[in-house]
Amino acid sequence: MIENNLANREAELAHNIAQVRAHIAEAAERAGRSPHEITLVAVSKTKPLELVEAAYRLGITDFGENRVQEALQKIAAFHPQGIRWHMIGHVQSNKATKVAPAFDWVQSVDSLHVAQALDRYAAQRETRLPVLLEVNIAGEESKEGTTPAQLPALVRQMLTLSHLEVQGLMTVAPQVENPEEVRWVFRALRLLREQLHNELPGLAMPHLSMGMTDDYQIAIEEGATIVRVGRAIFGERERVVK
Ligand SMILES: *Cc1c(COP(=O)(O)O)cnc(C)c1O
Repeated sequence: MIENNLANREAELAHNIAQVRAHIAEAAERAGRSPHEITLVAVSKTKPLELVEAAYRLGITDFGENRVQEALQKIAAFHPQGIRWHMIGHVQSNKATKVAPAFDWVQSVDSLHVAQALDRYAAQRETRLPVLLEVNIAGEESKEGTTPAQLPALVRQMLTLSHLEVQGLMTVAPQVENPEEVRWVFRALRLLREQLHNELPGLAMPHLSMGMTDDYQIAIEEGATIVRVGRAIFGERERVVK
């Protein structure tokens, strides 16, 4: 029975992944973009490792986690060739020593202090860690992220950290009834990147990580290159995790 259960869950997972990929392709087409420009990060927080392994067998290569402790266990247990683990939750600088060596990407850098700590531990391992800067576009008190006003100075300072690769920007939109209500947030992140490109010519920053289960299609229409999708792939979470 247990095996049968796992088979059912894998079939459901396969269905969910196919559906999300189809929606990504449709949204990309509406925006005149190629779906190949968009990386799907499957957010596996709170979900067991066997679902991560099943998703990997179904072609998912990028996984997102937001709790360091939970993630470290999964990463230690499962790191096949080609997989990328993304840190998408708040990083405290005292956790940087664990985060920098374990994760392949850190999407949630929002202060120079954290950036310097990650840079230091990446330097010890003689690697360059790809990072995104998290921006709190809507100014919600409950959200992490730097303010749009502080962003240019933070980017400038981060360019001096030689073991971090600033790959772009990330944001988490407010929860709303109708995802159209947060289109402006995604557009604002894209415009912020354009502003940075104008102020710092030569800066690459190719990535915009924006869009989750409820709003990733809108985010893609507004230029997302990375979407972070949890529930639409793995189902509802039992625990509420910020
Ligand atoms: C949980 C989480 C997601 C995924 O949310 P879903 O609504 O399950 O798709 C994406 N990004 C961040 C930062 C998260 O914490």
